[in-house]
Amino acid sequence: MLVLGIETSCDETGVALYDTRRKLLGHALYSQVDMHRDYGGVVPELASRDHIRRVLPLVTQVLEQTNTSLETIDAIAYTQGPGLAGALLTGASISNALAFARNIPVLNIHHLEGHLLSPLLSDPAPDFPFVALLVSGGHTQLMHVKGIGQYKLLGETVDDAAGEAFDKTAKLLGLDYPGGKLLADLATQGQPGRFKLPRPMLNSDDLNFSFSGLKTAAALLINKQKANTQTRADIALAFEDAVTDVLVKKSIAALKITRLQQLVVAGGVGANSRLRQKLRHHLVGTGIAVFFPELEFCTDNGAMIALAGALRLQQLNEKPPGSDGSFTIKARWNLEDL
Ligand code: ATP
Ligand code: MG
Ligand code: FE
Repeated sequence: MLVLGIETSCDETGVALYDTRRKLLGHALYSQVDMHRDYGGVVPELASRDHIRRVLPLVTQVLEQTNTSLETIDAIAYTQGPGLAGALLTGASISNALAFARNIPVLNIHHLEGHLLSPLLSDPAPDFPFVALLVSGGHTQLMHVKGIGQYKLLGETVDDAAGEAFDKTAKLLGLDYPGGKLLADLATQGQPGRFKLPRPMLNSDDLNFSFSGLKTAAALLINKQKANTQTRADIALAFEDAVTDVLVKKSIAALKITRLQQLVVAGGVGANSRLRQKLRHHLVGTGIAVFFPELEFCTDNGAMIALAGALRLQQLNEKPPGSDGSFTIKARWNLEDL
């Protein structure tokens, strides 16, 4: 079965084509970051207007590059939420219009389910059940994933998401938006051990996280120090070290509690190489396998939405009816409610 995936929850327009037999056939992505950079963050109204411009050309591009005609597509999967309401409406309306015209079903996909399943686009892929560390711009959660749609929250951030803390600290360091990757690059020039930042909730008796205090500690340090390049790199490294230490320790605690043997890391911060290195290092000899998405599928993309749609479709006993053209979006949506 051929599933077209459409992602428009925030500032990336993603389109992909996934075949349940031949896997991912093709995908295309347009990132709006250049447009939002001048504002230091995503401007919702600009985001929705730009999605309108990008979705159909990207659909055409993916169909052409995979030599596929719209007539052969069996279903359309799109991000129904959570995300920016206007941005979500764009993908929802285009997906339902296309599906209505073709009399094929739409699959309403939860954005975080897409992130969570994105390591399944890789080979080798994890098997269910596994522990998922979801670390993105808006979320930091540990999940017990029993199967498609069976997600139990083990712990989450009580304030900022890890990616948000990366971006805010990067801004304090004078880096462009979104600064997570730039901060990580700067940290590679840092001297280990020059500064030590707190590791919030490292020893709390739960699987929750907190990153806003760490960002404040970094802010105080940045204000106190002369901001030459070396010092900024040293602070970037201290920050990255603190965040990744907490993420690693809590992930390992989640594996112990659930006694599961597989860890899946997903979301934009999952692209961080220090996090990847530390997790691999700590899991050597434990028999626990760790899985990461391909770098291009860590941040928002259409492939993870097409995949989630295809897996959902396969799970159903019969093919759902074609879209009647009506739709709702869910700007706020709890993954556990699936
Ligand atoms: P959500 O999925 O929670 O709605 P989002 O879609 O904005 O949020 P993603 O696209 O998954 O989040 O990830 C973007 C985040 O990942 C940004 O905060 C970005 O700074 C961060 N990020 C990307 N690459 C890196 C990296 N190498 N190191 C640290 N952070 C990174
Ligand atoms: Mg984004
Ligand atoms: Fe995302």
